[in-house]
Amino acid sequence: MRRTRPSHTPPSDDTLIRAHQRGDSAAWNALAERYLRLAYATPHALGCSAERSSAIAREALGVVAGRLSGLEVDADLPALVVEAARAATPDSAPDLPTAATPSAFAPLGARLQAQHRVWQAVQQLPSECATLLSALHYGPLADAPDEVARTYGLSRQDMATHEAACLRRLLDALQSTGPLWTPTDTTRADEPAPADCQVPFADLVAYASGELHGPGLESLAAHLAGTGDQSEPCQSCRANLAKLERVLGLMHTDQTPELPTELLDSVQAMAEEAAAQPLGRITALPEADEGRGRTRVRVLSIALPIVCLLALAAGYAYWPRRQTGRLVEYERGDLNVKLGPGAPWLTGQVGQVLAEGASLESETPATALVRFWDGSLLRVQSEGSWRLERLRGSRNDRLVRLTLRQSSGSASYASTPPRNLASLRMRIELPKAYLDLAGTATVTVPAEGGLHVQIHQGSARLRSGAAFVDLVAGQEIYIQPDGTLLLL
Ligand SMILES: [Zn+2]
Repeated sequence: MRRTRPSHTPPSDDTLIRAHQRGDSAAWNALAERYLRLAYATPHALGCSAERSSAIAREALGVVAGRLSGLEVDADLPALVVEAARAATPDSAPDLPTAATPSAFAPLGARLQAQHRVWQAVQQLPSECATLLSALHYGPLADAPDEVARTYGLSRQDMATHEAACLRRLLDALQSTGPLWTPTDTTRADEPAPADCQVPFADLVAYASGELHGPGLESLAAHLAGTGDQSEPCQSCRANLAKLERVLGLMHTDQTPELPTELLDSVQAMAEEAAAQPLGRITALPEADEGRGRTRVRVLSIALPIVCLLALAAGYAYWPRRQTGRLVEYERGDLNVKLGPGAPWLTGQVGQVLAEGASLESETPATALVRFWDGSLLRVQSEGSWRLERLRGSRNDRLVRLTLRQSSGSASYASTPPRNLASLRMRIELPKAYLDLAGTATVTVPAEGGLHVQIHQGSARLRSGAAFVDLVAGQEIYIQPDGTLLLL
């Protein structure tokens, strides 16, 4: 349930769009991560299955990726994402056309965007708040506060105090990024300032959640309504409560499930697909005064097959295929090699081709070098055991997914150098951890347990359970057998 999050303010959409336009491939990854959930939530809210919602989310973000290079400053990206997902829904789910027509969809679209903004703001809170609010309002235990309290080892009272403090931060964060409230309830100049409300925020939260009882409830209700001792309704507390209730309502009606994990990967790989298809230039139809319709048809009849061919060609070039590695050096040790899953163990020989699922093992100190199709390297430098879990890459090497498992021993790895708009990933799976490497590193899995990683060039992210640490060249990290991290 713990979530990892950046400790700094995340870059704005505009910043990311400009970075993407300058050719920074990380920018699309960040945008895809930010908006995938919204693209998925749209068809999901229209009643599509998980599978359909994934397909539509992919298609919608593909459309958005294709439009990024031409976007102006201050483009409304959430609206663009929702609209792309809505437009993709009838095609993919022909039995749901009515709810997805633009006019019928508008209120739902606005709500989805507001929900997304709240969800995103929750994710950007300090991690203890992000975790608690996610558990209380989004997770499978959203309706079971007792369970959540037990999970965190808190009393209900303590949890309520924490929650109120976190909701306060959430409202402040939302407030600071502009009105959350739809155009019908934008702040008017004469509206009382919520800051003037003297009622403790925790009491407002308890009131809004139906958890306030007895005299406390009576006096707050009187304060809000202007009855009893109070002659006037307290407008500033009412304004505070209205905002709180709106945010709580948006959280509680957000039924978006956890997304399939592979989906983000596939969407992040789209930036290069988009870059490879200059669709904008082809679909810009010439304006003809006479016989416009006929010209349109003629242009389309020529352009469409070209677009389809280009898409096919791009698909062919970018489609990840199974790739191989080759044992290029073998100097010492008793290296045994399994060429692929189900193959027998053979003595290592220079020149052997290793397919996805192949394994290497040596019981005595070995030195060997495996070169992969994209130029990445694995250098075995001790006894140990390795498996080539995933060797996938596109024909043009712009998309690389290389996953190597090291169960024991010591080895060095080198990934191919990053290239503009290419999506390259070398992942080294280790006992209880994995390392995403962009550079070179030496990894040792000691026999007594634990882990030692040293980064020589580039950078890497080491993830162990929910925790991760970013490493750069020159850094070394030990994970001790008991799980403690030691950064050198
Ligand atoms: Zn008040």
